[in-house]
Parts: sequence; C-alpha cells; structure tokens
Amino acid sequence: TRRWYFNRKPSRDLEADTLQLREDRLPEPQQGEVLLRSIYLSMDATNRLWLGDWDLYMDPIREGEPMKGFTLAEVMVSRHPGFPKGSLVAGLLPWSEFAISDGSGLSIVPRIPGLKLADAFGVLAIAGPTALVGLMEIGRPKAGDTVVVTAAAGAVGMLVGQIARIHGCRTIGIAGGAEKCGWLTSEFGYDHAIDYKRENVVERLRQLAPQGVDVHFENVGGEMLDAGLTVMKDFGSVVICGLISTYNSNAGDRIPGPYMFRNLIMRRLRVQGFVILDYAERYPEYQQQLAQWMLEGRLNFRLDVTQGIDTALDALKMLYTGANKGKVLVQIGAD
Ligand code: NDP
Repeated sequence: TRRWYFNRKPSRDLEADTLQLREDRLPEPQQGEVLLRSIYLSMDATNRLWLGDWDLYMDPIREGEPMKGFTLAEVMVSRHPGFPKGSLVAGLLPWSEFAISDGSGLSIVPRIPGLKLADAFGVLAIAGPTALVGLMEIGRPKAGDTVVVTAAAGAVGMLVGQIARIHGCRTIGIAGGAEKCGWLTSEFGYDHAIDYKRENVVERLRQLAPQGVDVHFENVGGEMLDAGLTVMKDFGSVVICGLISTYNSNAGDRIPGPYMFRNLIMRRLRVQGFVILDYAERYPEYQQQLAQWMLEGRLNFRLDVTQGIDTALDALKMLYTGANKGKVLVQIGAD
C-alpha cells in the first residue's frame, strides 16, 4: 500500500519534504482486526498542528510515524465481529490506501439514502458537527442576533452562516477574494460579505452592525479576531473554533494578537474555545439534524475533492493558502 509518513518538521509552512509517500507491505489481519480500503480522506487545518511542537489537545505525530487523518473506509476483510465485511467505517487512520485496524476509534457509517457518500462524509464527519456545536452550544445566538463568521467560505464557515440563518440570525461572513465573497451571499445564505483582502474589516463591520455584534465565530485568529473583538456588543459571545493564521508557527513564537483583549472587560464578553472530539457521544444527534437539512435543501456546501493519495500533501497546503474552494477531501479509492 502507498502510505504517507511524517518525514521532517516544517520550519513554518508545510514543505515538499514535510511528508513522504512510501510503499509499505501490509500484514494479514489477525483475529480482532480488519483490513480497510480508504475511500475519502478529510483534510483538516488541525493536521498541520499535529506536525508541530505546540502543546495540543492530543499527542502530536512524531517524525518517522505515519501521517494520520480522518478517513472514510470500507472493510475488505473482517476478523472483527463489530465491523462486518463491506461496511463503511470512519475514524482516525493513516494517510494510506489500505490499513489494518483493531477497530479502536472507528465507527460504522450508515449510508444515507439521497446523499452522495462524498457529500455526507464532507459535511457530516467534522465540518458540520463543528459548525453546529460551535454556533449553537458555544455561541448560543438568539433569533435576531447578528453573527459574524471568519473563513466564512471554508468548510466550517459556510455551514455556520446557514445554521445561523436557519435560527433567524443576521449573518456577516468574512472571506478572502471576490469569488468566495460572492458565494457567501449567493450560496451560503450570508446577508453580507466582507472581503478582508480588499476592505477595512473593522470599518465594514461598524457599517453593517452599527449596534454591535452578538456572536463572533472565529476560525482564523490574529487580525480577524481583533477586528471581531473591536465591534462586539455588551455581553456578546466569542466562539474560538480555530486560529488557522497561527498554525504555521513553532512553540515559543510570539503569535499575533488579540490586542483587543481589553474588550473582554469593556464589553463583558464570554469567550470560549472547544474541540469537536469532546462531543463524540452526541454525533448521531448532530448528524441526523445536519443530514435532514441537507436532504431538505436547506444546507448548501461546496466540496473541493482532489484525486489520488499522492495529492494529499498539496491538498492540505490549500487550506493555508486559501486556494481551497470548499471542504477539502482527497479521494483515495472508488466510492
Ligand atoms: P477551511 O475550509 O475554512 O479552509 C481554511 C481557510 O482559512 C482558507 O480557505 C482561507 O480562507 C482561511 N485562511 C487560511 N489562512 C489564513 C490566514 N492566514 N488569514 C486569513 N484566512 C486564512 O478549513 P476548515 O473549515 O477545515 O477549518 C476552519 C477552521 O476551523 C480552522 O481554524 C480549524 O482549525 C477550525 N476547526 C476547529 C475544530 C474544533 O474542533 N475546534 C474542528 C474543525 C475545524 P480565505 O480564502 O477566505 O482566506
């Protein structure tokens, strides 16, 4: 099987030799194990953090170890009673065409009639639950609230805006470039779009939300977070979902901002971070809700699918340049 390995720590941005694709021989699955064929690999910003030296929410990957990611796979050979041959499973697996697993951390994925496998995996595996938990359980907006979202045209952001809209909120999305800003209002249900590459974000937020912002959903960090903190309403809430602008850094680096931390006092803000893995038990409930919205046509989304395991490193890099046009998946095998 072809499999990616963590080869050399990147000094900052992901580099061509950060990961290396190698050919491996797989052993036969033993009693209690399954042989899996990978179908889709989810590219997530956090994958970069696992290759760094910051203190994380989980163990990092060490140089020489296989690269890992959230994967949808099919059971080809089963010697495990919980995972029959032919079933679909998802979990953290090596970036690999085939893998042997003892089933730990894997869950069976039901096929949802009416949804394509890529769409279901792309939305329901990580981005959808993250958007739903982050907005509704951490941000807790009320109908009529103004919600601001950064990286709003990305996998999580495109869903947050629509979920906020479904709950009767007014939404402002911030993204880079005219094309992505166009999608925000035409496809992803945002009331307003701000192009941070061309516009003064604080000024535009002040124009669009003169009374202030109730809920700020942060995916980027740095200057974006500062802009958000500047225009919050008293007693507003700030959801720290991601800080992607800071992930290409090393422990000990002085990373930018937020400088407007003082507004936590001036505006009496509630600021909370979260990690979606902590909500695993409630996944079925979230996925059911999200799937229903998808089937009803109330949740639009874009996937950006690259073909072949050899594209994985370049696919991950796209998240950091903004070259991705939707949720990034790598298709490794036929679905
Ligand atoms: P996206 O599809 O949103 O892709 C990342 C986007 O971030 C890029 O397209 C780009 O959009 C923007 N971006 C990247 N670098 C910068 C930068 N330096 N400044 C401004 N914008 C930047 O990825 P995801 O939806 O997978 O992830 C979005 C965020 O959600 C990440 O921070 C991630 O860590 C977080 N997340 C958190 C989870 C949790 O449990 N807390 C779970 C899943 C994701 P543009 O072109 O608009 O600049």
